[in-house]
Amino acid sequence: MTHDGSGAKEIDTSRPHPARIYDYLLGGKDNYDVDRRAGDELAATAPEVRIGLRANRAFLRRAVRYVVGSGVRQLLDIGTGLPTSPNVHEVAQEVAPDVRVAYVDNDPIVSAHGSALLSGCGTTRNVLADLRDPQAVVDHPEVRQVIDFDEPVAVLLVAILHFLTDAEKPEQVVATLRDALPAGSFLVLSHATGDFADRTAAQAVYNKATATLNLRSRAEVERFFDGFDLVEPGLAQVPYWRPDTPPPPRSGEIGIYGGVARKT
Ligand code: SAH
Repeated sequence: MTHDGSGAKEIDTSRPHPARIYDYLLGGKDNYDVDRRAGDELAATAPEVRIGLRANRAFLRRAVRYVVGSGVRQLLDIGTGLPTSPNVHEVAQEVAPDVRVAYVDNDPIVSAHGSALLSGCGTTRNVLADLRDPQAVVDHPEVRQVIDFDEPVAVLLVAILHFLTDAEKPEQVVATLRDALPAGSFLVLSHATGDFADRTAAQAVYNKATATLNLRSRAEVERFFDGFDLVEPGLAQVPYWRPDTPPPPRSGEIGIYGGVARKT
């Protein structure tokens, strides 16, 4: 990682990358052999892995509708992932066409695809930056083109914080973002956990990738919401967070927590 907040510049195709593994498991095409092999290994570790990732994406859509429905018009989506249908700005702009979105990712492939998809779109930006330098994200000139930190912002940290090790101080990272937000802002967060099933095999797959998988317990994930008030139903396995369809089979085994909270 570079320390100017600009993230990695080179595309590393020799090792699997979380964004491309995720894209493969969601049925996308923006991935390489190494990513597909890692994705297959991951899916082999537990039958509910693919279900879990789809459920995470569905949580993201419901959470975006919730925060935009609550009046927020600016989204800072850190750990965007590769474009997939529907993207965050599409979900948000269906609720309110004037929503602005800053997409931030440290994978140059994500950034390149995002920029190609969104070129000419005045209400979104694609920024190559690293969550591990949160102040650089907040101060980034392109983020500032669409996000005004004097108005409520929803920060999306969906399926990204588990790629930060404890040594990378994820709690401080979230606190830095929180301190940049005015009252009425939201935090939308999802995070992998080993609370419901043994995930050591999944961790082993990521150990060979460009980022490790750091599972955290309910209490550890809840701590990321310090300084925010969780909205109902609090932290829940993603299929059970305000479901709008019946939860998929094996939902009880899905090792991803999700929650939405408001800064007061
Ligand atoms: N939020 C999306 C994608 C999750 S995949 C969703 O839930 O559907 C995780 C994404 O986080 C990947 O695109 C990966 O490139 C990105 N990522 C991982 N570590 C990061 C870091 N330190 N800074 C910025 N992005 C990161």
